Amino acid sequence: MKNALIIGAGVSGLATAIRLAAAGWAVEVHEAAEGPGGKMGSLEQDGFRWDTGPSLFTWPALAEELFHSAGRSLSEYIPLRRLSLITRYRFADGTLVDAPSEAEAFATALERQCGEPVRNTLNYLDDCRRLFELTRPVFLEHPPGIGRIFSKDYLQAYPHLYRLRAWTSLHRHHARVFHTPQAMQLFDRYATYSGSNPYSAPATLRVIAHLEHNEGAYFPEQGMYGFARGLYRLGQELGVSYHFNSRALRLVERSGRIAGVETTRGYREAGVVVSSADVSGPEGFSRKDPLPPERLSSSAIIFFLGLNKSYPGLDLHNMFFSADYQNEFRQMFSELNLAPDMSIYVFVSSKLVPSDAPPGHENWFVMVNAPPDAGQDWGRLAAESRERILDKLEQSLGQPIRPHIVSEARLLPTDLATTSGAWRGALYGPNGNRAMSAFHRHPVQGRRKNLFHTGGSVHPGGGIPLCLLSARIATAKILSL
Ligand SMILES: Cc1cc2nc3c(=O)[nH]c(=O)nc-3n(C[C@H](O)[C@H](O)[C@H](O)COP(=O)(O)OP(=O)(O)OC[C@H]3O[C@@H](n4cnc5c(N)ncnc54)[C@H](O)[C@@H]3O)c2cc1C
Repeated sequence: MKNALIIGAGVSGLATAIRLAAAGWAVEVHEAAEGPGGKMGSLEQDGFRWDTGPSLFTWPALAEELFHSAGRSLSEYIPLRRLSLITRYRFADGTLVDAPSEAEAFATALERQCGEPVRNTLNYLDDCRRLFELTRPVFLEHPPGIGRIFSKDYLQAYPHLYRLRAWTSLHRHHARVFHTPQAMQLFDRYATYSGSNPYSAPATLRVIAHLEHNEGAYFPEQGMYGFARGLYRLGQELGVSYHFNSRALRLVERSGRIAGVETTRGYREAGVVVSSADVSGPEGFSRKDPLPPERLSSSAIIFFLGLNKSYPGLDLHNMFFSADYQNEFRQMFSELNLAPDMSIYVFVSSKLVPSDAPPGHENWFVMVNAPPDAGQDWGRLAAESRERILDKLEQSLGQPIRPHIVSEARLLPTDLATTSGAWRGALYGPNGNRAMSAFHRHPVQGRRKNLFHTGGSVHPGGGIPLCLLSARIATAKILSL
């Protein structure tokens, strides 16, 4: 029987394990942490539960196809709910926009609340859809490569390449398309889904808005961690053997191939090795030179707050924008610092999953974007941010928050580095701030024929859907060896 050793039980490691086991391979997964999930983590404290990583779920067809490939149905393992309201946006001037998941209703809300003409938003979302359809076969679902430049997909795409707008920044594109600063800021935000700067990242990143606003946003009924648990359960049923608290230390090579992996639990022979460790850093089994902070995506400071009351002004996903968005990104990417006024994201899973907080209580995940770790004084930065964040939220919601905090924890960029192996705490490996950054991501194929890389730091990119795609691309290559 063919056998594979997978390093890391994050989303892409779990998904690769399922695909290979379903294809009849013997699969073992070695994970440094004590359980599955990687960045998709969970924290329990004082009767509260928080998802500690991703909170927005899009492109569920990829997860459905993964379960289908193993002869199962996604809904039996991970029931998903389609959100009717995706995000509640609050702008610095007091404007509030509820973004419904239906595109026409969203465009109407933007016109009613900000004055952005409906037509602008609908034309923009239509353009995002066409861009998605263009990039999906040539870049997202297959590795870009010289060998494919005369393939049917590529030949069909060439006449439309101007649509990528790779040499225009996302913000400059939005400044041309939209009339109102609110619409520009709202759509600029999608650059942060890849940890990038909308003032320098290419307008190609508008493809991200397509998934949310044309295809819809979803939420697992048992919270985001329910997704990791569902993948893990299916892997167990398929016979995958998981080894937690087992760190891969070194790949052992013999005759130009990877022969096995030295782990903290001993040496393991392997026919194929798939690493989902972050390739940007020294433990990625790939690069000689780890990426410097300037090349990395953003990190985050997250506060997990348990509150002894509920706040009707909040929905599941809430965004409180800063007054000077450009300065936030300048501070983050040029100065590796935090701006005094930061945009704040608040995610309250107990709005949909009541068991995540005691009755009458709420579990807040409060996040601000932060630079990757370059030795900053995170204790001081986090303490200062906490007060600024609470001041801003109290003012914006018009209600006291501090006296109602009954449980609290926090996650800093340095914690992200230690808990998930994220190099310098960057959420998505390299940033996408340059015109062709997407094409320079590390490929799924590793430096040896039987070595592969998956996950948020490699092609096609970070985030749950792209991690699932990297697992699919890697498996297709492995099965064709
Ligand atoms: C705060 C936050 C918010 C996010 N929000 C969203 C969102 O809303 N929507 C979205 O789609 N995505 C979001 N993401 C991104 C998404 O979570 C990640 O892209 C995805 O989960 C990464 O999966 P992965 O397969 O790369 O594995 P990772 O989650 O990076 O896990 C890698 C695993 O490998 C293990 N490992 C590393 N080195 C070794 C070794 N040497 N030996 C053994 N094990 C090792 C680590 O312990 C870890 O468990 C967010 C991420 C974070 C952190």
